[in-house]
Amino acid sequence: MSRLDVYGPRYPLLPLKNVVIFPRNVVTLLVGRPRSIQAVEDAMLRERRIVVTAHRESEVDDPRAEELHAVGTLAGIVSVERQQGGNIQVVLEGIGRVRIDQYDTSRSFFTVGADQLPELNTNPDESRLLVEHVQDLANRFAEARGRLSSDVLEMVQRATEPGHLADLLATQLLTDVARRQELLEMTDGLERLERIAIHLDSELDVAALEQKIKNRVREQIDKNQREYYLREQLKAIHDELGGENGNEIEALKARVTERGLPPAIAEKVLREIGRLERMPPVSAESTVVRGYIDTVLALPWHEESQDRIDLIEAERILDDDHYGLETVKERILDYLAVRVLTKDAQTSTGAQILCLLGPPGVGKTSLGRSVASAMGRTFVRVSLGGVRDEAEVRGHRRTYIGAMAGRIITAMKTAQVLNPVILLDEIDKMASDFRGDPTAAMLEVLDPEQNHAFTDHYLDAPYDLSKVLFIATANYGQQIPRPLWDRMEVIEVSGYTEAEKVEIGTRHLLPRQLENHGLPADAMTIPPRLWNRVVRDYTRESGVRGLERELATICRKVAREVVRDRALHALESSRDEVVETRSPASTVEVVLDSVPVPELVGERHLANGATDGVLATVAAVDPEPDFPGIPFELDEERLERYLGPKRYGFDQDLGGNQIGVAIGLGTTDVGGEIIPVEVATMPGKGTLTITGQAGDVMQESARAALSYARSRAEQLRIPKDFQERLDLHIHLAEGAQPKDGPSAGITMATALISALTGRPVRSDTAMTGEITLRGRVLPIGGLKDKSLAAHRMGIRRLIAPADNQRDLAKVPKNVRDDMEFLFVSNMDEVIAAAILLDDEQVERLEPLASQPGGIPLSDGYSDTTGLHGE
Ligand code: ADP
Repeated sequence: MSRLDVYGPRYPLLPLKNVVIFPRNVVTLLVGRPRSIQAVEDAMLRERRIVVTAHRESEVDDPRAEELHAVGTLAGIVSVERQQGGNIQVVLEGIGRVRIDQYDTSRSFFTVGADQLPELNTNPDESRLLVEHVQDLANRFAEARGRLSSDVLEMVQRATEPGHLADLLATQLLTDVARRQELLEMTDGLERLERIAIHLDSELDVAALEQKIKNRVREQIDKNQREYYLREQLKAIHDELGGENGNEIEALKARVTERGLPPAIAEKVLREIGRLERMPPVSAESTVVRGYIDTVLALPWHEESQDRIDLIEAERILDDDHYGLETVKERILDYLAVRVLTKDAQTSTGAQILCLLGPPGVGKTSLGRSVASAMGRTFVRVSLGGVRDEAEVRGHRRTYIGAMAGRIITAMKTAQVLNPVILLDEIDKMASDFRGDPTAAMLEVLDPEQNHAFTDHYLDAPYDLSKVLFIATANYGQQIPRPLWDRMEVIEVSGYTEAEKVEIGTRHLLPRQLENHGLPADAMTIPPRLWNRVVRDYTRESGVRGLERELATICRKVAREVVRDRALHALESSRDEVVETRSPASTVEVVLDSVPVPELVGERHLANGATDGVLATVAAVDPEPDFPGIPFELDEERLERYLGPKRYGFDQDLGGNQIGVAIGLGTTDVGGEIIPVEVATMPGKGTLTITGQAGDVMQESARAALSYARSRAEQLRIPKDFQERLDLHIHLAEGAQPKDGPSAGITMATALISALTGRPVRSDTAMTGEITLRGRVLPIGGLKDKSLAAHRMGIRRLIAPADNQRDLAKVPKNVRDDMEFLFVSNMDEVIAAAILLDDEQVERLEPLASQPGGIPLSDGYSDTTGLHGE
């Protein structure tokens, strides 16, 4: 026994690896180390008291004194039970905190001295408040975490001592040995409880946070589940409604990848597909989105056709498709040649746009088509006539209901390749108004600097137009917006003469129409005399569109006769051969046995492999002849039967030589036109009326004509005072069409003088020219178109200003050869050439006409345009 035994009580020591026991805490331990078992056994001999303390380091198996905590717990042994394998199970109850000293190692286990640590408790009020606070916290904690049993909670509620409460909760809450030890070492109950309060508080915080996270997770799960559920439902609905929408969406996505769209576009489209997926498939919006996706997917993004410009082949194609047009073809071939060279040289000058300028029906479109086929490119026509809105060229933004891509992008969609030939038809008919200027957008389309990234509002992404070959067509050069005109290389395609029309008709139009109507190429021939009649009596145009229409009418009628004749013929010849008429339910009229089987007649194969005879419709019965009554030659009788009475024609229009009627010429956007001018006189007070949609310039030239007539009154034996006694009415025929310009001046003067003198105007003569007050004749424009128009109308004499003589070269040779051109420099010459004057009148005019610089003004005449100038 050691010396220290003398001082105070001594206890066996039970070192515990991971356990800290608090006062009033009941703990069951399994003890296995022999030293520990001996310690317990020793304690059983000494009033069952034992001191327990924790290892400082849990790994040490056989701790020395300094490896143990100095503060431990004095415990009472409640029970000891031997277990199998030599272990014992000990139940201990904490009694109080002790400070351990005087380690005695003389026995196999430690015996130690242990002083009870006094419990400090200071402020009772503070204690009470703190106890209540902790009770509350414990309640909340129990609620949040559910880790305190109801027994414990009850004990908590009953506790009054802060130190006790702290120990109780520490037992329950603290799992970490170090922290339990720390708390064990605190002798101040309030301080311990405070520590517990802090712990509870932070636990509650953690709990709240946990709850929050949990809630969020649950919400997310709920949302996902909900979406999944709804999506499944939607899919089911889609499927029910007939569209396998799910598959469709997948198919769309697959196509985006397949088409290899540029990344920016692909992203945009995929986004739209995502939207589409979420939309009910029958909504208006889904239609819009669908339309957009389809448009983008349908556009060519990489596809190109192989270019081949073989000039010899191109020339052959142009010649095959078009009669005449030599200069035009030449220029097109030049253009193509330049394209070949510039392409080789990689310069961009070849980007000049070709513009075919001329009246309708002269083959501008079909020339464009030939260019495309000569280059091996796809051909698309875009009609610009009546385009007033920028959006028609550039598309509507998709915010609009019913928004569409512009015409250019739509054309690209049709083309399916990046390098088609696009024909911009009637570019002169584009007009700007408040909705914006389509010209600006068109400029962007045509500008090689800009058109590699053309923006269509609908597409909302740049699109490459740089590989497109644009060809424009226009009827009227002046009406082409200036900036566009500057970009274009203009090739004029003029109207055709009668002879040319006949050629075009014979070589191209008639064969095509016969074929279109299912007639053999030789079904009908038109003799030259009748060709002239078709052209002259039934059409009146610069081009050949009307002619083509008339030929189509003829072919239609012929086709109808053929079918009817054939049916009749078939009925006749089949009558004897009908051997049997079968089942009444059949739509087939006759059943034949012995006739040879033409194409249309087939055997009906039954399901069992048998054939039930040869069935034939009436029309198909007779294989011979296919086309009864043809080939034939068109004659006058048939022509009138097919086309009706003649619609135009010289004598009908102009009715022979007449008083007060002169034939003028004008130009319109369909080429040249004849404009008969009529003048009527009636008793009155000198009022001048002009009807027939005459513009301001024309009105003025009518006054000038009148003034001239007055100045010539004496020579022409017109009563000097005619203005006091007569009203004059000038009418320009074809009144519905507005006309303006000064070139009808000499015509109005001629008609006036004819009316006033009572002498007829030659109806075989047309005229054009501006008139001054003094009767000088000034040059006009459009001599070529006007001569063609006159020629077309069968007029063979033409009076024109002397200054226009230089334009004669532009008039096609055959017209020139056919016609007599009279170039004049003053009005008296016109009168002499056009009006059938009597000899005396002619005599009086002649000396004047020969005076250079026009005619002197007669006495008292002042050179104004006023009607009552004198
Ligand atoms: P545009 O575009 O000038 O209005 P189109 O090209 O539509 O005229 O021509 C109308 C019809 O006339 C087309 O069928 C065209 O093939 C035919 N055509 C015009 N000129 C000729 C020509 N010189 N040779 C053969 N056919 C022609």
